[in-house]
Amino acid sequence: MRRNEFLRLLAMAGAGTITPAFAQPANPAIEGESEINPHFINSGPGFGNRLALTFDDGPTPGITERVLTELSKRNLRATFFLIGAKVDAAPHLARRLVDEGHDVANHSYTHPRLAGMSDSSVEQQLARTQESITRATGVTPVWFRPPYGAFRREQGPIASKMGLGVAYWSVDPKDWSQPGSSAITQRVLSASQPGSIILLHDLHPQTADAVPAIFDGLLERAFTITPFHSFVGQPYV
Ligand SMILES: [Zn+2]
Repeated sequence: MRRNEFLRLLAMAGAGTITPAFAQPANPAIEGESEINPHFINSGPGFGNRLALTFDDGPTPGITERVLTELSKRNLRATFFLIGAKVDAAPHLARRLVDEGHDVANHSYTHPRLAGMSDSSVEQQLARTQESITRATGVTPVWFRPPYGAFRREQGPIASKMGLGVAYWSVDPKDWSQPGSSAITQRVLSASQPGSIILLHDLHPQTADAVPAIFDGLLERAFTITPFHSFVGQPYV
């Protein structure tokens, strides 16, 4: 997605780079459509020098374990936006994320572009993933991240009816394009600021290669790496 298009989407979503995660959207719930305001975020509170680490597209055997080892060495907590089909293929690895104190969240079942899909197909993608993650980990996610960020504002109620807030990000090093581990590290460290939600992927070896320097660099810059749910909270409580 082009940057302009993404910013337009965020503006439509009522989110902004300085909008606190706990701010309520301006538009009221539509009567009869959803009792809950769809909750979209792309950053956390800007005070306290805190930020959050998020990893998408796992669990990936051989990669996710490497990320877990580096998190564990530094006693850090991250959030993993999981693909339902990959959870079904490696439920033990999804379970390990929770056992080691990390948050798990929904990233659809097969990683399609949801923005162009019917409401019932989108609902199925989200619901199947909720079931897979709950079955594997005992935890039912409360945050959802659309693959490619491709999600329309009007689709918000599909997520909110399932109790899912929609979580975007504010720092994207494009590690999925495999630019090299030092480029990934540089991009993260130069763009991070208080309130950042950092997007990484436990998908390719380059990201696993980059995480030690990313974690150490963030800590050297005096950031507090904060568990997602205490950083941005629960969307509907
Ligand atoms: Zn993804």
